[in-house]
Amino acid sequence: MLQQLTDRVWTLPHDEASDRPMLTYIEGDQLSVAVDAGSSPAHVREFYTAITDKGLTIPEITILTHWHWDHSFGLCATNGFTMASKKTTEKLKEVAQWAWTPEAMEKRLETHEEIPFCHEHICLEYRRPEWIQVTLPDMTLEGEGTMDIGGVTIACETCDSPHSRDALLVSADGVLIIGDAGYEDFYELDRQYDKGRLSAFIDKLKGRTETFLVAGHEPPLRREEFIEYLENILKEL
Ligand SMILES: [Zn+2]
Repeated sequence: MLQQLTDRVWTLPHDEASDRPMLTYIEGDQLSVAVDAGSSPAHVREFYTAITDKGLTIPEITILTHWHWDHSFGLCATNGFTMASKKTTEKLKEVAQWAWTPEAMEKRLETHEEIPFCHEHICLEYRRPEWIQVTLPDMTLEGEGTMDIGGVTIACETCDSPHSRDALLVSADGVLIIGDAGYEDFYELDRQYDKGRLSAFIDKLKGRTETFLVAGHEPPLRREEFIEYLENILKEL
């Protein structure tokens, strides 16, 4: 069920078992925007049903926070236009070439192109991997950009992050949506933090003004709380 965070921002909660991430909906007077496409067409359907159940309109624009499958594989089923950072699009071009047979998936595990954590959850989400369709965003963004969707302005910023190199942060109505940007790096560092990248990201979060923060795999919280959580991790590194 969709949960209202502010006047303009709603979230569909994440699901730990399937690793489906939090999806965010931003309601404008003219257009509405989704942040992240989710894991699959089934995830998109769940999101859109939750949106219409609240009497809201289906989003015309979907923005990806980073390339990982659980945030991007639903893209083929989204309505309207889609947008991502240049680095996300570049990576998805590569992923779109991957074959989705059990044999090809096993081979990517052997070559470390894929990691066991994602492999296992992809197999849970898709009964048959052949159904996976990786599509590319319609638009790319590099740096910063804003759009007024009527009554609310959305500000986007691309940056490096502790989790991946292609992060896109979205801000609207006092909410900062960061996807997985504050988590460990699963692909490059085997679920570890890089001290320098974490420290730079904490500084970036400190420089923001939003009250709330929405991360990919936990309930929304106050930005200050998330900064404190990351500072405690940094102390241990
Ligand atoms: Zn991720």
